[in-house]
Amino acid sequence: MPSAAALTGTVHVPTSQVLVRALFVGLVASALIGVPFVLRYWNEVKAAQRDALIEDRHHVELGSRITAQTLQAVVSDLRYLSDQNELKELLAEDTAPHRTRLAQEHAAFLRQKPEYDQVRWIGADGWEKARVHRTATGVEIALPNQLQNKTGRYYFDATMKLEEGQVYVSALDLNVERDRVEEPRKPTLRVAVPLFASDGRRAGILIVNFLAGPMLAELRALTPPGGSNIWLLNAEGYWLLGPGDDVEWAFMYPDRVDRSLAVREPDVWRRLSTEIQGDIDTATGLLTFERFYPLRPGRGAATRARELATSAADSYWIVAAYLPRAVLGAHARELAQQQLVAYALMAGLAFSAAAGLAYLSFRNRALSQLVSHVVDHVPALVSYVDAGERYRFVNRYYETLFGTPRSQLVSRPVREVIGEAAYAEALPRIRTALAGEPVSFEAAIEYSKAGHRDVSVTYAPDVAPGGRVRGFIAVINDITAQKAAERRERERMREVAHATRLASVGELATQIAHEVNQPITAMVTYCAAAQRNVQAESPNNTRLAGLIGAIADEAQRVSAVIRRLRDFVRKGEIAFVATDVNEIVTDSLRLVAGEAVSQQVQVVEQLATEPLRVMADPVLVSQAILNLVRNAIEAVTTSAAGRHEVRVATRRTGHAAEVSVTDTGPGLSPEVVPRLFEAFVTTKPNGLGMGLSITRSIIEAHGGQLRYCEAPGGGCTFTLTLPGIDS
Ligand code: ADP
Repeated sequence: MPSAAALTGTVHVPTSQVLVRALFVGLVASALIGVPFVLRYWNEVKAAQRDALIEDRHHVELGSRITAQTLQAVVSDLRYLSDQNELKELLAEDTAPHRTRLAQEHAAFLRQKPEYDQVRWIGADGWEKARVHRTATGVEIALPNQLQNKTGRYYFDATMKLEEGQVYVSALDLNVERDRVEEPRKPTLRVAVPLFASDGRRAGILIVNFLAGPMLAELRALTPPGGSNIWLLNAEGYWLLGPGDDVEWAFMYPDRVDRSLAVREPDVWRRLSTEIQGDIDTATGLLTFERFYPLRPGRGAATRARELATSAADSYWIVAAYLPRAVLGAHARELAQQQLVAYALMAGLAFSAAAGLAYLSFRNRALSQLVSHVVDHVPALVSYVDAGERYRFVNRYYETLFGTPRSQLVSRPVREVIGEAAYAEALPRIRTALAGEPVSFEAAIEYSKAGHRDVSVTYAPDVAPGGRVRGFIAVINDITAQKAAERRERERMREVAHATRLASVGELATQIAHEVNQPITAMVTYCAAAQRNVQAESPNNTRLAGLIGAIADEAQRVSAVIRRLRDFVRKGEIAFVATDVNEIVTDSLRLVAGEAVSQQVQVVEQLATEPLRVMADPVLVSQAILNLVRNAIEAVTTSAAGRHEVRVATRRTGHAAEVSVTDTGPGLSPEVVPRLFEAFVTTKPNGLGMGLSITRSIIEAHGGQLRYCEAPGGGCTFTLTLPGIDS
């Protein structure tokens, strides 16, 4: 709508407040949106850890199986070698050809099995009897002068103590050449069996050096690069396979003996050395471990327990998979980045939405303030009334008119606020408005608090899109002052008209008085001449002289009445004298007595017993009474049947003297009543309509009142009062 758009353009939206609101709402919304992201991230990280753990357990199990199988293969190879005929022959008869044959057998064995470094037969005296070893170029059989005495070596002494069928397995360590660890490192495991001659005599030991390097490489290759690291730890907590060259095989180097897991992570080691398997969440990563006894029965190998040396059976290693936190962290970081991008998008959206909403909200508030301001300053009652006829909104003018704070008007029923009388007037229109029809009307309403008001009202229904009427907007203009002005104007116009008419009546009266006075003066003159004639010609005829005198008196009375009336009508002059109203009434009735008799109307005089003294002009008051009585006589004569009676009564009311004229005539028609006392109002064909107007003027000029009321029998009662004189 163009009007709304124009209004929107005029409102000021406070940018800083919009920004603050947008920021606040945006932050709250972002925080709320963040929760699922964090939860999801958390779950994903946990799931990733769980997956890694499952995988690592698998690696560890695989690692221990590989190791055990390898060792069992070594043991079974050694058994095979110790069972060879060449060896048996040699043990039976130690000759050079037998030794050569054995050495050649062993050389063939070494060539076939690259995982072995040496095969030796060491005699019971500690001397090597036959030694075949691997060199850089191939397999070499040691010359007799190269053979050494191994008495005192741990593997020799330990194996020499074993029973037939038992196996010695050394610790896995690095090969040492001339008291130095051989480089590159050669992880070696010595496995030996004691030899017995056919007569049961101890004949030394058969020992192989197994190269554990490939097995360790195989273990290391179990996990893909960039993931978990496979560790192999010995029972003392040293790494055989570990986090780095510098810590692996540390027990072989006198200066590195403290580089063990046992020393570095005592807490971790405590669990590794006491539990068979488990997972540890360490400070630096996730460790999954399993302790295993490679030569114990039950790990799928054919070795029988009784064949093993106690030390070998009890020796154990720990295979562990270590997943550094950095690896886990990298995955988590990647995940976090994805989540962050999605979150940033959502949060951006939330902020934009918040900004939009904040702008709209502030603009709407500004608009509503503007509209309220306008509505408040309209000099009319503006309100919104709901379908339940309760005020939902009232403008400030209501406060002014009803003297009640707006807060107390809102939500109160219309009926209660404007009062019963006003509500009764408005109700039909309210119903129309609530039926969906706009209404406009003018009314004089009696409000409960605001009093009498002339109002111009418009009810505009508020119709919902579905057609339901939700309420209506009421705009009520207080036109009391305007109406009063109009009334005053009408009154003034009437007064002007009245004055104009009276002026012309005054002129007329003056002319009539002038015209009538001439013949009356002439009459008086003729009467005087006639009297003189009667006195001269028949002085005894006193009766005639009396009659002529009476005519002259009446003529003079008429002349006086005309003069008095003329003076009153023209100049408002009144000749006040102290007089008794009863007397005026009696005089007046005397004047109409003849008329009444001829019209067969009975005039009843009911005078107060006391004199009713007033200051008045008897001629004018008499005219006033005569007017009323004549109208009454005329009225009763028009009604065909019934009593023809005119009753004239006087009495004292308080300080006033009261005269009432009541007739048995037909009474007044309703349309005459409101304008009864106006000049020129008449229902008679020859009437002037001046009688009552002049009568009232005369009485009011005396400070009295002239009233009309219906007589009990249906005729009229005219009552005049005149202020009395305090006696
Ligand atoms: P006029 O007598 O010339 O008509 P008035 O001013 O005396 O003028 O009376 C005005 C009108 O009032 C009369 O025309 C008549 O209709 C009515 N009226 C006055 N007095 C009476 C009455 N006593 N009974 C019935 N109607 C009356």
